[in-house]
Amino acid sequence: MSAAASPGKGLVVIHVDGLSHARLQAALEQGHMPFVSQLIESDGYEALPYRCGVPSTTPFAQAGILFGDNSEIPSYRWWDKQAGLLVAFGSGSTFGHVAARYFAGRVPLTVGGACIAALYRAGATDRFGPTYTERHRPDEHDAGGRTIAAFLLNPVVLYFWIRHGGFSLFRIASEYLRARFARRRAADVYVIADIYHEVVVHHLTRFALLQAMEEGLPTIYACFYTYDEAAHAFGPTDPNTLRILRHIDSTIRLAARRRQSNRTGVDYEIVILSDHGQVETIPFAAADGRSLGHHLSAWLPGYQVTEHRGQVFMQAGEPSGRVEVTYSGGLAHVYFTDVPKRLARNDLESMFPGLISKVAALDRIGAVMVRDQSDGVLVTAEGEFALRLPLVAGTRALLERFDSPDVLAQQLRRLNSFETSGDLILFGAYDGLRQVNFEDQVGGHGSIGGDQLHPFLLGKKEWTLDTSTVTNASDLYPMLVAIRDRAQGVRQGSKPTGR
Ligand SMILES: [Zn+2]
Repeated sequence: MSAAASPGKGLVVIHVDGLSHARLQAALEQGHMPFVSQLIESDGYEALPYRCGVPSTTPFAQAGILFGDNSEIPSYRWWDKQAGLLVAFGSGSTFGHVAARYFAGRVPLTVGGACIAALYRAGATDRFGPTYTERHRPDEHDAGGRTIAAFLLNPVVLYFWIRHGGFSLFRIASEYLRARFARRRAADVYVIADIYHEVVVHHLTRFALLQAMEEGLPTIYACFYTYDEAAHAFGPTDPNTLRILRHIDSTIRLAARRRQSNRTGVDYEIVILSDHGQVETIPFAAADGRSLGHHLSAWLPGYQVTEHRGQVFMQAGEPSGRVEVTYSGGLAHVYFTDVPKRLARNDLESMFPGLISKVAALDRIGAVMVRDQSDGVLVTAEGEFALRLPLVAGTRALLERFDSPDVLAQQLRRLNSFETSGDLILFGAYDGLRQVNFEDQVGGHGSIGGDQLHPFLLGKKEWTLDTSTVTNASDLYPMLVAIRDRAQGVRQGSKPTGR
């Protein structure tokens, strides 16, 4: 049977950012996601945990899911020595400057479909996505503006948006004030981001998702970030944070209803997934008010130390060298930008004697990872631990605090193989419950330890998905391609068309 003769069926993937499998279970038990509960209890769906890999950040996981390839994506933001620039996502994204080096020869999951509010264009018609052009692909002009116009011209949608937006503003503002009065931590920047995502982005994304289904586009990937933003602002276990999931649940219900009622007659399979989880945090500077950059600048006289999402530490006179420090929650990369290649341990020891052990001796640091002639090494206050396989007992005991040692060792070795990783890679300390965070957030992710490494994949039981061996979000790509192709009637084993 040819693809053209088969009945039209598409795939909708709903990306719920930052929701771990454990917090999804809590939300279901507490009744915050009644529609998803119904999918599981009566419609034959199951929620499976999987491992996203390290770093536990959206750029890494989403690249894996959309392209099946997340190599050289070491963090949410990083210093690219080759291009001499900070690569970052979100507003003011600079990924476009280096995008041509990524995903060569890959066919994106959403090719010819819609990729809504994602960090990558992924070969799809862009809707609120990034504004760069992918290699070899003169993309269709940004459809985001068109979608916004349609959104604002629809009075029913606009009415619900204003009604919901008003409630959300009131709810988030009152939660923030309550947190302040109770002297709980609430990360201010993230409260603003939370309001913006809750009120504006969630609704635009939902509108664009339903519109793309209405148009019968074959593959649609839609990202919802409100839970992640709320968890950064209030913490992943805060009752308010879980309540946010009610809106996502109602969006999933709307999408499920639209399956049958869209005018093109295309039916959709629906998959819901997350990219990473979150854990509660302790701020790095809590002990003495000094950030990591502050410590580094004291140990590196003459160097200018720039923290991305932080401060700049300058010395008097012309600096003799520059250090760029990039943070993603409990993960930090430290780059000596005057050296064009990544420094190995021997180089670091001869250029900056004692620096590695000084950083590792900080009680807020879980481990420092550096390159060496072999498979890399972790340095802590207690000593050094080779990442060579099979693992020695000492390394095994260290890694056990964070996750299954053999899996974690492979994930760390891969991160350590990236040319874009820092000369030093730092992981915040983790006590089994909370991680030390380099950024000012109540909930964090990006590092190793706890729920941040364990997101979920929710699909039909009849697909017999096995996520027990998934150790990298890129392992989801072939699974989703198979669901997509089966839905569209493409014979298994035949190549997806790269329109
Ligand atoms: Zn996040």
